[in-house]
Amino acid sequence: MSSVEGTSGLNGHTTYSPENKYKLPSFCIDETRPMKVVIIGAGYSGIVAGIRFLQRVKNLELTIYEANAGIGGTWFVNRYPGLACDIPSHCYQLTFAENLDWSSFYAPGPEIQAYLESVVEKFHLGPYIKLQHRLTRAQYDEKTGKWHLTIKRATASTDNSNPQIRQGMAHDEYEDIEVTADVLFTGIGSLSRWHWPEIEGLETFQGKVIHSAQWETGEGDSGAKTKWEDTVKSWGDKRIGVIGVGSSAIQIVPALQPRVKTISNFVRGKTWVSASFVREHLVTLANGDESVDNYTFTDKDKKKFRDKEYYREFRRGLESDLNGAHLATLRGNPLQQGAREIFEKIMRQKLSKKPWIAEHLIPDFSVACRRLTPGPGYLEAFCEENVEFVPENIKRITPTGIETVDDKHRDLDVIVCATGFDTSYKLPFTFIGRDGIDLSKQFEPHPRTYLGIAVDGFPNWFSALGPNTGVGAGSLLIIIERQVDYAVAATLKLQRERLKSIEVKKKAVDDFDAYLESVFGEKCRSWYKVGKEEGRVVSLWPGSCLHCIKALEHPRWEDYDYEYLDPDNNRFFWLGNGNTLADKIPGSDRSWYLSPEEVDIPGLY
Ligand SMILES: Cc1cc2nc3c(=O)[nH]c(=O)nc-3n(C[C@H](O)[C@H](O)[C@H](O)COP(=O)(O)OP(=O)(O)OC[C@H]3O[C@@H](n4cnc5c(N)ncnc54)[C@H](O)[C@@H]3O)c2cc1C
Repeated sequence: MSSVEGTSGLNGHTTYSPENKYKLPSFCIDETRPMKVVIIGAGYSGIVAGIRFLQRVKNLELTIYEANAGIGGTWFVNRYPGLACDIPSHCYQLTFAENLDWSSFYAPGPEIQAYLESVVEKFHLGPYIKLQHRLTRAQYDEKTGKWHLTIKRATASTDNSNPQIRQGMAHDEYEDIEVTADVLFTGIGSLSRWHWPEIEGLETFQGKVIHSAQWETGEGDSGAKTKWEDTVKSWGDKRIGVIGVGSSAIQIVPALQPRVKTISNFVRGKTWVSASFVREHLVTLANGDESVDNYTFTDKDKKKFRDKEYYREFRRGLESDLNGAHLATLRGNPLQQGAREIFEKIMRQKLSKKPWIAEHLIPDFSVACRRLTPGPGYLEAFCEENVEFVPENIKRITPTGIETVDDKHRDLDVIVCATGFDTSYKLPFTFIGRDGIDLSKQFEPHPRTYLGIAVDGFPNWFSALGPNTGVGAGSLLIIIERQVDYAVAATLKLQRERLKSIEVKKKAVDDFDAYLESVFGEKCRSWYKVGKEEGRVVSLWPGSCLHCIKALEHPRWEDYDYEYLDPDNNRFFWLGNGNTLADKIPGSDRSWYLSPEEVDIPGLY
């Protein structure tokens, strides 16, 4: 094929002449260029990303680097007593990987971890995952359009049972490796960086101090499959202090209550402990028992789940109601007032033996200002003899216990810090974009992104569960799935159109930021905001879960800038030599567009 040779300029446009003749590339239009994709993290996000990239991108070199000694992220690391999902198990699974055997309405943590392991196995993801490989530095190279990554990897075989090694921190036998990527996808979790609370004297305590995110009691935890029950076997005569009133503390207190001598729960803030918005399903499953707060599926239930139609209806019903809770999170919506009244009534009922606790705990802020925790058994635990609710602030920790601001000292044997996570979205490694710009600086005073998944100045990078992508009601997993779809679509565009880079425009980021600014208003201290009560909301999506997935459904490619791989910078470089592979390769299917897949299932994008 020869190119058309122009003779003169038409309307001032440059046309082709023998001198400026465009040099045609030699590839066919559908000859996919190799793409090297690196995924960081092997929690839900990294696993979904691994599956979808492999399924949809041809000529792909994929590696998933995971800092921990196992896959699962949140569910690999957290092993504290009572850990369970806070939305129904049937909503906390992937759309394309159904589990028919969830044991209970809110499944325990180890079961979710086992589910994730089964997904990795089912989709043959194992060979692509490199455990104990921690990303420590990422730098974008403008010349090549590639990310240069420094990965710290463990060199010796490691002991998975040591929680510090499990979390990829303690091992001292490391080496640095350098890798590059055409596309970087980070799924490093918004709740994976925990820290010790800053309380005077914490280090002087002579008993055990444990963080909920690193459950290490010194007993029983000698293997990845150890049950938390085995780690507290000797605690029958122990006095436990639990600091915090977040989701973890709410699960830990009732789980420990029957197994220890006393629990003092130090509660600084207020929180809604609700039986969740899908309570009717729970009550129906429990044959109308209004007091139920979890439900164990029977063999009969599981048999019914084998009926595909029944199972899907059950799942859809639950998820539909879960999403329906969104209206109750909107200020001024009658549903919100209704939910508030119901939650308050339930909380007061459960605390009827100790009504003063309800006064301390029931918040002024709206029901979804913080993530709702169903908290089975939490309020009931305070009505037990051996559990104390301590609303006074902590003054200091002493060698023998905790002293509160009213100068009262409680002697303790164990302190459990259920004090949450670093939710600042500051990446715990150096992340350098175009022109040497450091992401941590760009994220001052708060993270600014495009729909939570891309950042100007950081081309060819997409992330899952970044800033402003959480939801107060609904499942995070469908959001992760759609974020992955988006990143895959962008990668396919880079590959198909032979682009060197795709980078979101600053103006698009500014506009999203302005939009966010006007959406959020109400005060409440929670991880949704940066620091102070008045701070900017950084975790929440500015709408419902369904709204978020709609927003991601059709990428607005016009919000991005592009660079071509073509040395001559011609946007039609990707058209190649005028052929498709089928044209060139003898015996190819040259009517592929009539195949059932093409006719019956239109492409996603
Ligand atoms: C205790 C707890 C309970 C929760 N319960 C619920 C719930 O009930 N329902 C719900 O919807 N959500 C819940 N969440 C939120 C939960 O985190 C998400 O639902 C989901 O698990 C997030 O998956 P992820 O893969 O994005 O992140 P994570 O699960 O946090 O995984 C991130 C992974 O990235 C790895 N990583 C991080 N940095 C690096 C690095 N530099 N190099 C290499 N690897 C790295 C980490 O080691 C980790 O394995 C809970 C969170 C916590 C902490």
